[in-house]
Amino acid sequence: MINPTPKQAVKMFKNKTLTFHKGDIQSIKQTCGKTAWIDNRTVHRPFPEPADVYPFAVDSTHVYIICPWCRRIHVHGRGVGGRVSHCKPPNYHPDYRIMPI
Ligand SMILES: [Zn+2]
Repeated sequence: MINPTPKQAVKMFKNKTLTFHKGDIQSIKQTCGKTAWIDNRTVHRPFPEPADVYPFAVDSTHVYIICPWCRRIHVHGRGVGGRVSHCKPPNYHPDYRIMPI
């Protein structure tokens, strides 16, 4: 699955809790035909400050977020604070902070 929907993504994991509400997440059809995701709760800050992101799901050990940079889903260890985005190309964009829900 190249870019699963948030619901498809969390189906791959057990015992998760969804933390988003209707309207929080939207999809965009890109010109390449792939779907990109946007979490409307994300707070972007001026470069090079990290963005603030909110998990759309959590389980006992992970948080699931929609990356503000590549618009795909990344999974991180549970907890709040700064993370290195998994898609990060060198010198391209700042990271993000996972915020409490
Ligand atoms: Zn990313």
